[in-house]
Amino acid sequence: MKPRCGCREKIESTQPQKRKLGARRITDLIRFNNQEKKMDNTHKGTCFCGAVEIEVSGDPLGMGYCHCESCRAWASALVHAWTGWAPESVKVTKGAEHIGAIKKSEMSERKFCKECGGNVMTFHPPLNMVDVCAGTIPTFQFSPELHVNYAETVHPMKDGLPKFKDFPTDFGGSGETLPE
Ligand SMILES: [Zn+2]
Ligand SMILES: [Zn+2]
Repeated sequence: MKPRCGCREKIESTQPQKRKLGARRITDLIRFNNQEKKMDNTHKGTCFCGAVEIEVSGDPLGMGYCHCESCRAWASALVHAWTGWAPESVKVTKGAEHIGAIKKSEMSERKFCKECGGNVMTFHPPLNMVDVCAGTIPTFQFSPELHVNYAETVHPMKDGLPKFKDFPTDFGGSGETLPE
């Protein structure tokens, strides 16, 4: 029987403590990064002329492309890249007095700048969701998840994302999907 070496015991007793310290540091780092992420999770946007300024914060409820005729006409684009937010996540930070609105249907209250005619945002009362054009908030990382109203498309997109005929069931639609 060899006598146990004192320094080995020392290593054994200090090792777990060392590991704990390291783990704590990593946790702190992750927490710090998350805090930074949260702080960075605010994105500013403006209308075309800059009279109206908005700010979105937190995480969107969803994002993707809308192929409906109304969005095409509204955005003057073949498809509308949208980001959907809870109303409390979107703030008008400047020029609220310049905002006009048009409500062609119960589904959409489209808001624009009265000075430049630029698109600001669209409120969807039945969904309690505010739709902000992805192009209006340039620092926001647009990561599309789905296509909606694909039955109306004039610009098919083969990106492998689900193509909903109208809307997913969560958004009050049929949930039916179409081929690309
Ligand atoms: Zn404007
Ligand atoms: Zn649309």
